[in-house]
Amino acid sequence: MSTIAWIGLGHMGAPMSGNLVAAGHTVRGFDIAPACIEAAAARGVTTVGSVAEALEGAEACFTSLPMPAHVRGVYDGPDGIWAHAASDTLLLDTSTVDVDTSRWCHDESSARGFTFVDSPVSGGTAGAEAHSLTFMLGGAATDLERAKAFVEPMAGSVILCGEATAGIASKLVNNMMLFVSALGVAEGSQLAERLGLDPTVFWNVANVSSGASWPQRTWYPVPGVVSTGAADKNFDATFSLDLARKDCSLAVQAGESAGLNLPAAELALAQFEQLVGEGLGAKDTMLITKLVTPDGSL
Ligand code: NAD
Repeated sequence: MSTIAWIGLGHMGAPMSGNLVAAGHTVRGFDIAPACIEAAAARGVTTVGSVAEALEGAEACFTSLPMPAHVRGVYDGPDGIWAHAASDTLLLDTSTVDVDTSRWCHDESSARGFTFVDSPVSGGTAGAEAHSLTFMLGGAATDLERAKAFVEPMAGSVILCGEATAGIASKLVNNMMLFVSALGVAEGSQLAERLGLDPTVFWNVANVSSGASWPQRTWYPVPGVVSTGAADKNFDATFSLDLARKDCSLAVQAGESAGLNLPAAELALAQFEQLVGEGLGAKDTMLITKLVTPDGSL
């Protein structure tokens, strides 16, 4: 069993690190938010007061941070990972960031004698709790095999995507497809209501029919249908609009750089931006459903 450092104990980091503890590892966790520290401690994580302390004796160091700037900040500088990790500590970032930030993590880690693997995840908080996440790993082949052993207790699937940044590029495309599907689920859920359908009966129909999708199965935005979504919890975030805006914006930017038209992704981004602009960034992504009804009621 190993000692593992974990930086960022939020919606994803807390259950993921808890699953490493459940698998028998010692996890030394750090977060800047006291409530997150407490929640992780309740899952058996050994909570500490700094990145440096988290790294003491660590064979691997995971990060699960909100935005690319947080990842850059936690790696760099006198209090950061590079300043305090042992050279044989494997560095893995599970955050969703842009390809340039991930490339920077690879290049700067390598220049300092470290090994970095881009390790983003899919499956949401439900997948994090159920240790059924999909991990998409990018890096040199021998490093990916080493990373696989550390991520397996949190994973349903581990996919070795290829060289450096292949994992994060896969994640950005995957999430763009998720957001486009989510628009259809938001609209379909409300049309089903207006047509007088029982929401659970309709969900059962869609679930085994051509309207099925991950957000339909997991995030269906009508109360009383799926326990994994936010509709039963006043749309408190399982995956926040702030994060959806970030991820979708990264995909749209990648499309622009590649010379593609991505009209559906741009529409999703416009909806996320509208709701974030209304001060709802901390609420759940499926709050886009309120844009379907004329008065914004759900
Ligand atoms: P979150 O905001 O709940 O958690 C991030 C945590 O990082 C917070 O607890 C925050 O306090 C902490 N943090 C910020 N700056 C820090 C610093 N300098 N040092 C230590 N801790 C710091 O976000 P989340 O939903 O857990 O998502 C984390 C990452 O995983 C994001 O990049 C997100 O896009 C990605 N992701 C999220 C989901 C999901 O469903 N929530 C699914 C897949 C991927």
